[in-house]
Amino acid sequence: MDGIIIPLNERKASQMKGQKPMQFETLAIHAGACPDAETGACGTAIHQSAAYKFRNTEHAANAFSLKEKSFIYSRVTNPTVGALEEKMAALEGGVGATCTPSGLAANLLIFSALMSPGTDFVSSCKIYGGSTSQFRDTFKRSFGWTCNFIDPTDPKNFENSITEKTRVLYVESISNPEGVVSDMESIAKIAQKHGLPLVVDNTVATPYLCRPFEYGASIVVHSTTKYLSGHGNAMGGVVVDGGTFDWMKHADKFPALGKEDPSYHGTTFAETFEEMPIAMHNHAVGLRDLGINQQPMNAYLTMLGIQTLPLRMERHCANAQKVAEYLAKHPQVAWVNYAGLKTSPYHKLASKYMKDGGASSLFTFGLKGGYDAAVRLIESVRLFTHLANLGDTRSLIIHPSSTTHAELHPDQKIRAGVLPEAIRVSIGIENPDDIIADLEQALAGVKAKAA
Ligand code: PLP
Repeated sequence: MDGIIIPLNERKASQMKGQKPMQFETLAIHAGACPDAETGACGTAIHQSAAYKFRNTEHAANAFSLKEKSFIYSRVTNPTVGALEEKMAALEGGVGATCTPSGLAANLLIFSALMSPGTDFVSSCKIYGGSTSQFRDTFKRSFGWTCNFIDPTDPKNFENSITEKTRVLYVESISNPEGVVSDMESIAKIAQKHGLPLVVDNTVATPYLCRPFEYGASIVVHSTTKYLSGHGNAMGGVVVDGGTFDWMKHADKFPALGKEDPSYHGTTFAETFEEMPIAMHNHAVGLRDLGINQQPMNAYLTMLGIQTLPLRMERHCANAQKVAEYLAKHPQVAWVNYAGLKTSPYHKLASKYMKDGGASSLFTFGLKGGYDAAVRLIESVRLFTHLANLGDTRSLIIHPSSTTHAELHPDQKIRAGVLPEAIRVSIGIENPDDIIADLEQALAGVKAKAA
């Protein structure tokens, strides 16, 4: 096998020939990757080029008018970033993908395609604090898109908040920081009933644990900065197109997809590119006009990380389970919010939606000593790193209420599960005995100071 680029048409063709689709572990390594045709170099090349030479003027004109798929300029497409897009589409089971420089840029890209000024969307209130402030403040102020935040633990809340002007339902598959697992199948049914796409942020679960398209989601977004890259050395985001939503049927609601685009001589994206309208629109219009393209070096680093995603996620989940069980039994610990624990209200949903019930490795816990004890614990750990990221190989710790979720209003913090005493950990893939030993010595220090 001399390298496998598996574009959509080839994936479909092989399925039609009755070939068994490749397994996730195989795709994580091979999808989108291909030894260089001329040199045989096996690593995906970092195409650090702003633009691409045209064969002649006809080629240039055809490329610009989307008549011929071609690399033009790296704000819109880049071969290295394209390889990551192909890998992400394959891993999520989507039809195409578009990379962005960060997870929040992925939100911006997809909302810019689906929303118009004066429209609204319904979002789970249990989401990353940066997404909350983006939705609540900047989207409203700069673009006129209103977000209605609701408690996602009862799917009916989505239905009750849908108005004539609603264009999107939005959830995190596993929420940051509370670890709430969304009932995606029920929420997707509501979305379908109302002719709306469900957008799922699958950052914390990753496609290894959960594939939202299998439960009716229309679009998946990620911050690839986290578990996907895994090393904490590359920022990135991606929007994956599920390819199933009927944009033409709802063309009045989604004019960017279902109506003629004057900037491409009247092209209707959902008609002309019916196999992957969102992925095409996100490149041809979104990246072109918003200028939020991912850099090839970051795509390269992210692909390096994804090759080991299955192994890392297994270890992340196993370690988190051990640490959560240790904390749950500890006399100084008041509560632990981890869907891997049988006592969690989200345990059943994790068993349904996550591979082998794995609940990823991000969770919160509180100490009986409250906020003061939390501060002391964070300042006493030695192996854990105190920083604002998650999904790294290293174990990480932070106080979300004063950092990652600081912008939330007090009532929003409570609704998002960001209690003043909550400590957030992202359990790494070190030896679990060392992780527990670090918490043990830090908890002993907290107790000694309190005495
Ligand atoms: N989504 C989730 C669940 C996150 O945790 C984060 C960041 O922490 C983001 C999106 C935003 O990603 P980025 O920091 O890459 O913009």
